[in-house]
Formats: sequence, C-alpha cells, structure tokens
Amino acid sequence: MLRNGYWSLMCRGRRKKIATLIMMLILLINALFYVSFELYNTVKRRHKEPWYNSLHFDENSYVDKTGMRVVVGHYVGGNIGRNLSEEIIHRNNYSPVPGEGEGGRPVMLSQKELITARELYSLHSYNILVSDKISINRSLPDVRSESCKSIEYDINNLPTASVVIVFHNEAWSTLMRTVMSVLIRSPEELLKQIILVDDASDRKYLGKELDDAIKKLSKVQLLRSPERTGLVGARLMGARSATGDVLVFLDAHCEVTHGWLEPLLDRAGNDDVFICPHIDLLSEDTLAYTKSIDAHWGAFSWRLHFRWLMPSGEVMRNKSEYPSKPYPTPAMAGGLFAVRRSLFWRLGGYDEGMVIWGAENLELSWRAWQCGARVEITSCSRVGHIFRRHSPYKYPGGVAEVLNSNLARAATVWMDEWADFFFKFNPSVAAIRDRQQVADRVVLRKNLNCKSFKWYLENVWPQHFFPTDDRWFGRIRNDRGGCLGVVSTTPGLGGPAVGIDCGNDMDIDRLIVYTPEGRLMADEGLCLEQGNGRAVWKSCSDRPKQIWEQKGPRLKTKGGLCLTLVKTDSKDGVGSHLTAKKCTNDVGQIWHFERVPWR
Ligand code: UDP
Ligand code: MN
Repeated sequence: MLRNGYWSLMCRGRRKKIATLIMMLILLINALFYVSFELYNTVKRRHKEPWYNSLHFDENSYVDKTGMRVVVGHYVGGNIGRNLSEEIIHRNNYSPVPGEGEGGRPVMLSQKELITARELYSLHSYNILVSDKISINRSLPDVRSESCKSIEYDINNLPTASVVIVFHNEAWSTLMRTVMSVLIRSPEELLKQIILVDDASDRKYLGKELDDAIKKLSKVQLLRSPERTGLVGARLMGARSATGDVLVFLDAHCEVTHGWLEPLLDRAGNDDVFICPHIDLLSEDTLAYTKSIDAHWGAFSWRLHFRWLMPSGEVMRNKSEYPSKPYPTPAMAGGLFAVRRSLFWRLGGYDEGMVIWGAENLELSWRAWQCGARVEITSCSRVGHIFRRHSPYKYPGGVAEVLNSNLARAATVWMDEWADFFFKFNPSVAAIRDRQQVADRVVLRKNLNCKSFKWYLENVWPQHFFPTDDRWFGRIRNDRGGCLGVVSTTPGLGGPAVGIDCGNDMDIDRLIVYTPEGRLMADEGLCLEQGNGRAVWKSCSDRPKQIWEQKGPRLKTKGGLCLTLVKTDSKDGVGSHLTAKKCTNDVGQIWHFERVPWR
C-alpha cells in the first residue's frame, strides 16, 4: 500500500510535470506562430508601400485616393543625382523588355531592381528603371467614353498642329515615348511638325545621341536654348518657329492616346479658346496608365497654388447631359493645351519675365478669360502625364525666389484688389513685388481691353472661396476660447472641425469668409458642414447643411440648431470638437466675429 501509494504519488507528480511541459510547448509554438505571422505581415506591409516613400516626403503634395485633387505646384527642388556616378547620370539606359508596360499596364520590378530604382529616383522624380524597360512605341488603352469614340471629325477641315515639347534634363525613354506617341497617334495630315526645345540640358545622352535619333524621324525638329530659361522661355522659342495653325503644348513625360488630337484641333480651330486635354495619370512608380476622374476643373487656393476642384453644379449637369462637349475651367494645369497660333500671339504669348517654372498657367488662364478668350477641357482628348511629387531639377536663384517672383508678376498684372489680398497674407512674395518689371504686361492688358479680376471671379468662377466686398472676412472666436479654422496636413482634405488656436491677423489658416448666403468658407475651398454628430470641413457645395445663419452671436443651421464648441478639459477650447446642438445658454454657442481687412 505504502509502496503503491508512493508510486501513485510519484506517477501523479510526473504526469503533472509532463502536462505542464506539454502546455508550455503549446504556448511556445503558439507564440512562435504569432511572432512569425506578425513578422510576415510587417514585411508584406513594407513591400506594399510604394518604394519611393522612404525617399522624399512632402506632406503638402499628394494625389488624393479619389483622384479628385492633385496638388501640383508645391515644389521642393530635388536632390539631383545624389551619390550617383557621372557614368550613370549621363548614360542613356533605355533597354526595352518585350511586353513590359504594354497596354498601359504597370511594370513590376524584382527586389533587387527596386533597390536600384530607389537609388535612381532622384534623377527624374519618377521610376526611370521602369521607364527604360518600356518600349517607346508601347500600346495604350483607349479610355475615351463611347460618346467621344463615336464622333467623326472631318479631317480635311481641321487646322494643322505644331506640337511643342520643351524639356530640361528629361530621361531619354520618357522624352522619346512622348514624341513617338504623338507620331504614331496623330493623323498624318494634321501633324505639321513636332518641335522639341532643349532648355539647356547638361545630360550627355541629350546631346549628339539625341540629334542623331531625331534626324531619323520625319517632322521632328530639335531647337536648343543656349541658356536655361525655364519652360516659358523654351515654349516661346518653340512657338516662334512653329508654322502649324494650332500650337499644341505637351510636357516631355506624356503619352497621348488614340484620337487625342482631333478634338483639340476641332475646338481650337473654331473659337477663341485654350483647349486642354483630359489629363490621365502615368504612375510615377510603375508607369501604369490610369484614367483620372472626369469630374474636376482647375482653380487655385488663396496662396495661388493650383488645385483640381469639383466643377460647378451647372457644369456637372452639362457634362452628364453632353459628355463629349468641352467644358470651361477657371484655370489650366499647365503644360498641356492647344490654341490657335494667331490667338496665342495676339493675346501676348507668355510673360517672358517668368523664369524656370510656376505661375505661368495661372497667368495664361487669367489673361485668356479676362481678355475675351476661354479656357476649356475636353474629355475626348486623353493624354497621360507623369505627375511628380518633386521637381527633379535645379532652380537657379532658389525655388522660393523663382516661384514667388513668377507669382508676384501674375498677381500684380491680373488680380487687381485680390493681388493686395495675396500680398498682404504672403509677405515673402510681397517683399519681391517691387522688383518685378511688369510695365509691358500692364500695357498689354490695357491694349487688349481686358476685363477685371472681379469680372473673372463673378463670371468664370462664381463658386470661388475668395473674400469679396459683400462677404464678411475675419476670425471667428468662440466664447470658450479657440477659433474656427482648418487643421489639416493635406491641403483641401478637410475633416472633423475642432476649435483651433486663434493665431494673429496674418494667419491665413484662421481666417474665414462668411458669405451672405451663410457659408463659412476657409482656404482650399472648404466649407463648414453639419455632419452626422460632428461638424466637418468639406468641399464647398450647394448642400443646405453648409448654411449657417447668423442670429446675434449664434450660428444656426437650417433646422435651428446652434454651432457649439463642445466643453472639454481644454482651457482655451483648442482641440474641442464642433457640433450643431439645441440652442441653450452654453458659452460654447457664442461666437465673436472679428473682422480682418482683406486688402
Ligand atoms: N521645363 C523646362 N525648363 C525648366 C523647367 C521645366 O524646359 O527650367 C520643362 C520640363 O522638362 C517639362 C515642362 O517644362 O517638360 C513642365 O515642367 P514639369 O513637368 O516639371 O512641371 P509639372 O508638370 O510638374 O507642372
Ligand atoms: Mn510635367
């Protein structure tokens, strides 16, 4: 018994140990599984991230997921060819791999190639390794709507085109693909010539090697600017030697698709209009051709940054009724448009005082509209363009100086009182305002008998969010502390509204336009809207939820609720959220309107 008892005791002890051991083993295996699963996910996630993300990141430039707002115009000069050998910088590495990128499909790289691509990224601010793998004659999808495809143009009655493509240190493959896409997709009788203008590139492969390649192509000519002038100087040089009826400007990293030219020539030939193609996206990462959303037009922010925005309701209605009809746009994006050569020169070409890059698209758009012409987009002409996050080239004199002086010129000549608004809140631009010699452009405006900027805002862009004489402008402070304003790292994206630090009179992000209809507008076209529960900043629209009626110190919704800064622990109201609530004697419902002169 004793023995037996002893044994059974021993046995029980051992069984317990074995059981504990098994339990521990199971736990260990589980833990191992968990760790490796997480590890796998992390690696997978990292590989899913676009490879260039770790390189440069400028939070002010982005392509919105919906494709609605593509910010072009906030430029940080690139770090050109950092750590790359001369050999790599100056060599043409075009080596097409059959099938790659055909049909506009994305090109995928191996892990090893991704590392190289990353190293080469700063050269062009797009994936040059991918570009070099794609044939310069690659096929592309026809993304036009059926209504566009069904239009038959009488080619014999269309004007001829001179296509002007300017470039500075562009990659060989992207430049040549731009040229070839035009050559193979333009009706022979309509294409008078392609004029390439080299804006003083210093890459060796763009020297004799390019001369020789161009000589083999009929209709293509190459001009060289002895000095770096910028895109305005280079485009003017091209335009001066053009002989076609219509000038068509393209960037040097575009690909035109089937049927692109006819709608441009048809419209440009018939009216005083600067007609832009619909710009699709060529991915900077994979060079995939992606259709961009067909519901945007071009405009600009208070800081005069170009923006894609929702067109007016009227334009949207027209677009759905007549999808193939060109529609007006307050501004053009820049490099891609067609215009009758005679009209281009009659309206003063380009402002030659504008250097390198920037603001010329706004200047041209304002000039066109104010001086009796129009700016339009046609969805029937589809051209892919590589939108870059960063400018890859040098800005002699500094990026800020270049951009600011171009902006100062455009604003001074065309914006009237709104130039005062722009300069008042952008002191760094105001500082160089007087250095601009714009007398000849002012004379041009006078001679052409151009209309005012007020007329432009009222007639071309009535949905604009700029202050005017009949709109209140200033800071709106809550009695609890904190002001109305937008906090966002991505311009125009909006989001939940919170009380923000009131800043000072010069703080443009705290200033609000309050319209007679009751809209509270901030920069970037954002309006305060009563959301589900919380108030949010959203793109301005006709929605009644964006109407806030001022009743004494209160702001009321259509339904009679009061805009309230909700009480939180925050002493000054900063960070507290906003909502529309039943009106009470809550101090969070009391708003102080502090007018700030806008000019
Ligand atoms: N460009 C030029 N000289 C310059 C800057 C730009 O010839 O000093 C050319 C550039 O190669 C491109 C066009 O002008 O073909 C427009 O520039 P970019 O594509 O950088 O502008 P974005 O499309 O980003 O607005
Ligand atoms: Mn471009």
